[in-house]
Amino acid sequence: MIEASGPDRSRSFVIAIDGPAGTGKSTVARRVAQALDAGYLDTGAMYRIVTLAVLRSSVEPTDEAAVAGLLPGLVFDSPTNAGRQRHSLDGVDVGTEIRGPAVTLAVTPVSANPAVRGWLLDRQRRLARSGRMVVEGRDIGTVVVPDADLKIYRTADADERARRRQRQSAALVGGSGPDLAAVATDLQRRDSKDASRTHAPLQAAADAIVVDSSSLAIEETVAHVLGLAAERGITP
Ligand code: C5P
Repeated sequence: MIEASGPDRSRSFVIAIDGPAGTGKSTVARRVAQALDAGYLDTGAMYRIVTLAVLRSSVEPTDEAAVAGLLPGLVFDSPTNAGRQRHSLDGVDVGTEIRGPAVTLAVTPVSANPAVRGWLLDRQRRLARSGRMVVEGRDIGTVVVPDADLKIYRTADADERARRRQRQSAALVGGSGPDLAAVATDLQRRDSKDASRTHAPLQAAADAIVVDSSSLAIEETVAHVLGLAAERGITP
């Protein structure tokens, strides 16, 4: 009997998508995952949820030991579906709150805390290795999954990133969104701190393919990434 030959859906893979804030990498990662019928993991959301828990406690986000002490008691979901994701802390939906200004400000010291990174790393690796996965963050190709099948590092011009983030914030909270100059300053603050921290700084892996969004828009980037994936035997 001749077996029908189709795509090998049993093959696990990891596509790592890293880069600074506001480059559209979430949209790219999610669409690539949808096109490949794969899972999608947003590691930034994990740092944001831990940060929200810190803000809800009496602990200072910069107090590394006290923040580390909170970790064992944290209960939150890390969804891996590529559609609409529900992020919850202690069972309550926090999807909007984790994108708000208080968390966005405090996530920098929390994510620079080595205890937080080490604690999240186990969960990130387990989920990243759970099948067909597209994983998005800052250190996926360098630290979380250094042997990922494909590594993309997405960059974009600073002004364009600020405009994109402002549009996203406006869509989330309504109105015209935050002041563009304030968004640009915040992105610059976060990126320079992320890039200069000691543990798992924001940087492209040596074997990452750098995709600049000034030359490639979202749809083109998605098509480009899918082409690169296909070259590595990763197909829908
Ligand atoms: O991706 P997003 O902007 O939501 O990430 C929020 C913050 O979490 C980043 O500014 C960065 O400080 C931190 N982060 C990180 N490592 C990752 C993902 C996010 O340090 N893999």
